[in-house]
Amino acid sequence: LWNEILDKGRDVLPPGAAGTWLKTCLPLEISGGMLVLDVPNVFIKEQIQSRFLLPLKELVRALGVAEDVELKVGSEIRPNEQKRAEAAAMPLQSQRGGLNPNYVFDNFVVGKSNRLAHAASLAAAESPGVAYNPLFIWGGVGLGKTHLMHAIGHYVCDNQPGAKVVYVSSEKFTNELISAIQNNRTQDFKAKYRSVDVLLIDDIQFLADKESTQEEFFHTFNSLHDAKKQVVISSDRPPKDIQRVEERLVSRFEWGLVTDIQPPDLETRVAILQKKAEMRGYEVPEDVIFFLAQNIPSNIRELEGALNRVVACSELNGEVISVENAAEWLKDIIRNVMRGPVSIDLIQHLVAESFGMPVDDLLSTKRTSDLALARQVAMYLCREHTEASLQQIGYAFNKKDHTTVLHACRKIDELLKTDLRVKSVVDNVRKKL
Ligand code: ADP
Ligand code: MG
Repeated sequence: LWNEILDKGRDVLPPGAAGTWLKTCLPLEISGGMLVLDVPNVFIKEQIQSRFLLPLKELVRALGVAEDVELKVGSEIRPNEQKRAEAAAMPLQSQRGGLNPNYVFDNFVVGKSNRLAHAASLAAAESPGVAYNPLFIWGGVGLGKTHLMHAIGHYVCDNQPGAKVVYVSSEKFTNELISAIQNNRTQDFKAKYRSVDVLLIDDIQFLADKESTQEEFFHTFNSLHDAKKQVVISSDRPPKDIQRVEERLVSRFEWGLVTDIQPPDLETRVAILQKKAEMRGYEVPEDVIFFLAQNIPSNIRELEGALNRVVACSELNGEVISVENAAEWLKDIIRNVMRGPVSIDLIQHLVAESFGMPVDDLLSTKRTSDLALARQVAMYLCREHTEASLQQIGYAFNKKDHTTVLHACRKIDELLKTDLRVKSVVDNVRKKL
């Protein structure tokens, strides 16, 4: 993982940051979301602080490894030399025209949520310019749009050597155009983009308000489309909802096939985590995979980040990967997920107070009838007043699965009709929420 940070750092940190400065550091541990780096001396520490500490923190956060970074000078605890050697021997990613080598169809897990987008991408890759042109893929952040576009690119390169494949974000397209205009090189720009066989243009929504870029893209699009060259476009929303982009352009987006990617269901999340773990050679027990899939539902990038964090924490702290440890290492992330307008924590406190018992009892395994009732009331209220899933509520009450929560909700639903005490406690807590 440290290698990954160094590797990505070469792209996103200032020049020399990873190659010169970071290389001299070693990761010591991750605790409480803090990545602690061992820095050889004060000079280097100051250099890092003044040159790129903030972007480094962002990078570490983006990879999901930790929330923050601390630099420690001259630590006695030096991880073995072997790790340093490994870091030095790390291969540089071979770039195939800007395509990420890992984003291939083989590594893409297909589930209900992305089946159609995957099938359409494969068809476009198989017969570029013929099947669906343009292919328009839309969906939320971190759901696999970029992965599919790169996969199309790799597939075409593999099967039609000599085909010219260009992947570009609409931001980069804009910047290239601007610099071409400034340097009187617009002819080169036009020649470059109008001669490709497959154009993959990512996050098209960024063309909003950029009139001259839209104009240029319009002509590029037409010329490629006329020549039956494949165009693949991605966006965070469907064409009809793209604002501040010319109508004539948006209507062209609908000429071919428009397909979406939805957030993955639990089974797909599990399969994706297993795939990622396998690809990276991580040994992660099944129950931990499930735990991550259940508790980090939002998007696949975050899911991967959580997996990275768990493996990094285990490596650096020398502790086993278990559900218990994972819950501890991911505390901050999981708590964020559970954050709704009302927190589970608050409900637990209010219910415990109403029943006149310590919160700890509510979360314990003790089984008096009063406690059982209090727990059920609290779970019921969490279900009603937070956005947490049944699994998340179960986890917050130290329950292994969600059936206990489901049962509690049904039970309290019934009791509310007949039991005045339960009704008064529930009403009482609701008032305070
Ligand atoms: P988007 O472009 O939609 O924001 P990305 O394509 O960048 O999302 O995907 C985010 C991360 O999730 C990437 O690391 C990608 O490999 C991974 N990912 C997304 N969908 C899948 C999938 N179905 N199978 C395997 N990995 C996936
Ligand atoms: Mg993307």
